[in-house]
Amino acid sequence: MNFLASDELHGRGSATRDEHIAALFAAAQFQSLGLEPGGDNGGFVQKAALPNPLPDRLRQRLSQFEDTPRTETWNAVAVLRGSTRPDEVILLTAHLDHLGVAAPGTSGDTIYNGADDDASGTTAVLTFAHLLSRGPRPKRTIVFALFGSEEIGGYGNRAFLDHPPVPLSEIIANLEFEMIGRPDSAVPAGTLWLTGFTRSNLGPELAKHGAHLVNDPHPKELFFQRSDNYALARQGIIAHTVSSFGLHHDYHQPSDEVGTIDFKHMTKAIASMTAPIRWLSDSGFKPQWNPGSNPKTSSPEAK
Ligand SMILES: [Zn+2]
Repeated sequence: MNFLASDELHGRGSATRDEHIAALFAAAQFQSLGLEPGGDNGGFVQKAALPNPLPDRLRQRLSQFEDTPRTETWNAVAVLRGSTRPDEVILLTAHLDHLGVAAPGTSGDTIYNGADDDASGTTAVLTFAHLLSRGPRPKRTIVFALFGSEEIGGYGNRAFLDHPPVPLSEIIANLEFEMIGRPDSAVPAGTLWLTGFTRSNLGPELAKHGAHLVNDPHPKELFFQRSDNYALARQGIIAHTVSSFGLHHDYHQPSDEVGTIDFKHMTKAIASMTAPIRWLSDSGFKPQWNPGSNPKTSSPEAK
């Protein structure tokens, strides 16, 4: 996490060389764990072209920052093949990229380190890869995917959905880890919340198996729709985001630095999720949407 959020990585700007370095770093970690590559050409990195030109809404965001042409984005993807039910897949995700650096001439701190957003989630996924690849092989397959270009419109995620390492129909659950580096005072200490908690039976079941996981206390923020999980959820895949973002003021600011991370909280949070994810990987439990809550068949605004 110190590496990802270091000034040297220049805020991992979406679709920049720095995002690419973050993807290569994650790929090296996956490779060192002996995981199967899930990227392009037998490697762990998946490259995708950005739309050209970028839609106006995205361009607006980039115009606040350095004016570098951005044409490609990079994901890091790895597969831990299940021992007895390899065609049932748990997908664990986060986003690698952040906002990069401020425009030339900006005074003060110009690097958007993105420690909480989302070096914390990236670190969680790398940690799960580390922990779950040890010990007995899980019965189900686990795919670890770290996406580029989330901040400018979820392009890495779209590339993954276009070229998934396993058929999308085999994914029975996706957990996206987004901003878990600091506790949220709206929920009990050491607790994470799950977006769309009441939409499916996945969150309650993980909580039953020890996850410190509760309902999202900020429903007005529409976080279920605002993260990479949503593109999958719209395809009908049970997909939620795990977070403990307490609406802190360092959100999308250069002050989102490693020094603000509560490692005790983050470690506890990751630890509380590890056994439940292992349970899910070994169980026959198939999560389901609750009636009327499947984003593929019901309007999200209806909930
Ligand atoms: Zn984020």
